[in-house]
Amino acid sequence: MNITSIDVSIRRREPSADPIRDAIQTLPGTGNVEVLVRTDEGASGRGEIYFGRIRGAPDALAGVIEHELKPIVLGTDPTFVRATHQAMLRETEYHGSFGLAMFGIAALDTALWDCLGKAHGVPCWQLWGAVHDRIPAYAMVGWLNYGDDEVQRICAKAVGQGFRAVKIKVGFPTLAEDVARVKTVRQAVGDDIGIMVDANQSLTTDEAVQRGRAFQDLGCVWWEEPIPADDIDGYAELARTLDIPVATGENLYTPADFARFLRRDAVDIVQPDLRRAGGPTALLQIGLMAAAFRRPYASHGGECAHLNVMACLPNTYYVETGLIGADSPMKLEDGCVALPQGPGFSWE
Ligand SMILES: [Mg+2]
Repeated sequence: MNITSIDVSIRRREPSADPIRDAIQTLPGTGNVEVLVRTDEGASGRGEIYFGRIRGAPDALAGVIEHELKPIVLGTDPTFVRATHQAMLRETEYHGSFGLAMFGIAALDTALWDCLGKAHGVPCWQLWGAVHDRIPAYAMVGWLNYGDDEVQRICAKAVGQGFRAVKIKVGFPTLAEDVARVKTVRQAVGDDIGIMVDANQSLTTDEAVQRGRAFQDLGCVWWEEPIPADDIDGYAELARTLDIPVATGENLYTPADFARFLRRDAVDIVQPDLRRAGGPTALLQIGLMAAAFRRPYASHGGECAHLNVMACLPNTYYVETGLIGADSPMKLEDGCVALPQGPGFSWE
C-alpha cells in the first residue's frame, strides 16, 4: 500500500467581531488547513490543523506541507507511518522542526494514521490496543473577556450538558480579580463540579506561587500554564512549592521537551497539543513516557485523533472540549465521552 496523492486545502472563516480572549491572546479564529492522503488500494485519510489566530499562518502552513513535506510522504507505505514521521523530522531539522513545520508534520501524521485505520477498517485505538472505553471530559468555557453573568451562564450550561468539570481563564491584573472570578463560577456550578484555572503563561513565578496558593485554597483542580511555557526552572519551583497540581505542555514541542520537564519534576499534569507535539505518533510517545513518570495526561484540545490516543494511555485524566454543539458527534455520559467507533479517526 502506497500513498499516491496528497491534497492540501485551506478552510477560512470570517474573523469573529467579538473574539474570545485569554490572558495573552485574542483569538478571532482564522482558518483550518486540511490534508487528504490517498493510497493505491483505495484507502484515504485526513488530517486537520486548526488556527485560532494569525491571519497568514494557514497559507504559510499549506506551503510548508505542499513544497517540503508532501514530497517526503508521497510513495510511502502508511503502515510505516512512524518511519515517515522520522523522515519528516529529519527533513525539517535544518530550519527547525518546530512551529509551522511541526504543525505540518502533525497534519500528515494524523492523515497517515487515519488512513491506516481505515485500510484495516478499525478505529486507531483498536490498532494500538486500548485501556479505556470512555474518557472523562471537561469544558473549557470561561474566557477572560466574559463578564460575570456571561461566565456564570456558560459554566452552568456546561454542567447542564453533563460536564463534571469546567476550565476558566484567569490572569486578570490582580489576584483579587482572579479569586473573585473563581468564586463567581463556583456560585454558578455548585460544590461538586471541578474548576480548572489557566493563566496562559501570563505571570511571574512569584505571582504564580501567590495565586496558586489562593486557587489551592479555593479547591481548584489544577493550575495551568501560569508562567512562560519554556521556563523549566520556574515550573520546577512551582511544582515543588505548591500543593495544587501544576499543568503545562500545550506549548511544548516534541517528546524531548516533555522529557526535560518530567526529569526535572517541573510538571504534575502533562497537556500535549496534537499540532505542537507532532501528531498522534508523538502524543503516544509523550503519554507513555509520562505514564512511566506516573504523571496524568490531560489533552490540550479534544480532536477525534486525540481521543483515540487517550483511549490507549494508562494515565489518561481528562479530555478538553468546549460546549457540545447540537451537531457534535460527541456524547457525554456520567461526565465522560464514549470512544469514537469509526475507522481511523472517524466518529462513526
Ligand atoms: Mg491552556
